[in-house]
Amino acid sequence: MTSLPLIPVDPDAPGARRATMPPQHLADLDLAGRKALVTELGEPAFRARQISTHYFGRLVRDPAQMTDLPAASRDRLADQLLPPLLTPMRELACDDGATRKALWRLHDGSLVESVLMGYPDRVTVCISSQAGCGMACPFCATGQAGLTRNLSTAEIVDQAVYLAGVAASGAVAGSPPRLSHVVFMGMGEPLANYNRVVAAIRRLVAPAPEGLGLSQRHITVSTVGLVPAINRLASEDLSVTLALSLHAPDDELRDELVPVNQRWKVSEVLDAAWSYAARTGRRVSIEYAMIKDVNDQPWRADLLGRLLAGKLAHVNLIPLNPTPGSRWDASPKPVEREFVRRLRDAGVSTTVRDTRGREIDGACGQLAAAEDRGTDPAGRMSA
Ligand code: SAH
Repeated sequence: MTSLPLIPVDPDAPGARRATMPPQHLADLDLAGRKALVTELGEPAFRARQISTHYFGRLVRDPAQMTDLPAASRDRLADQLLPPLLTPMRELACDDGATRKALWRLHDGSLVESVLMGYPDRVTVCISSQAGCGMACPFCATGQAGLTRNLSTAEIVDQAVYLAGVAASGAVAGSPPRLSHVVFMGMGEPLANYNRVVAAIRRLVAPAPEGLGLSQRHITVSTVGLVPAINRLASEDLSVTLALSLHAPDDELRDELVPVNQRWKVSEVLDAAWSYAARTGRRVSIEYAMIKDVNDQPWRADLLGRLLAGKLAHVNLIPLNPTPGSRWDASPKPVEREFVRRLRDAGVSTTVRDTRGREIDGACGQLAAAEDRGTDPAGRMSA
């Protein structure tokens, strides 16, 4: 295996899509910022709260439905505060409608995706923080395409607000109607878009109408392990859950699977994770994609167990979702079971992640990748 270089897409290269940030949206601003903007537009400050109540409180995104705003003000405010950010290109469902995946086109043509997952006791959305990703993990579909650009705060928040509206409409049978959990496990490396992601988290947790009113504990930020950014996140007044995509307990293999390991080694990234856990009191989730004959050997389970024993950690094993053209496959079930057994014997809490959304390429940038290839994954839609 050779490591891939971290090459961002050059937006000026011939044939490259021009990637530009979107216009400002109300979700980019806190309530005070919205009031200031509304006042600048010559409207009374209370309109900021009115329009925020529609968007965050009632999950109404279409200005035409905001009938308590006088028509002239509504148009002016919608122009400045509610520019359309996400155009749904494709919505797929599987698991009897309990998993829904949305592919969005952004204003500059970039494609990103989000997934809505309903469970009996909760509703989770998995959202993207960047169009593409610059981290180049060779087993990840998004990593293959490189980074197009960072998403704006509102582009991140709007994915959750849109899908919270889908859940509220009762579309996810057998689940509560209220969105409860958000995971930053879609496209992109959230900590490489630090300021916008932290602002988005603040919008997600602020009580309505300033934000969506989610619990901090129900938000998970997943990272390849950008150590300075993990330390910075620990110093925010937030206690969101940190997920660390470890995938290998030894530097030799992790240098290849997660190329940023060449900069911050396993021991450094785990130290940052333990400081995060100590600071926030939150158990860190260690993500480990099980790749057949690559990282699934018993000795790696034992080494991982030694690194994690006694720490505030939980291991989440993910059966590898093979990407198109990849030479890698998921570990066989008996190998996976042995890996779990060894971790548990070492006293490490371990679970295997369910494989929701597989049939709609609900993991890891594959729908956007399929769209770019011009293939049609809709044939696999079951609901
Ligand atoms: N950049 C962040 C978040 C996005 S990916 C991160 O790396 O954590 C979310 C999770 O899916 C990560 O743990 C990532 O390693 C994992 N993942 C990516 N491609 C995968 C694949 N093909 N099969 C299984 N898990 C994968």
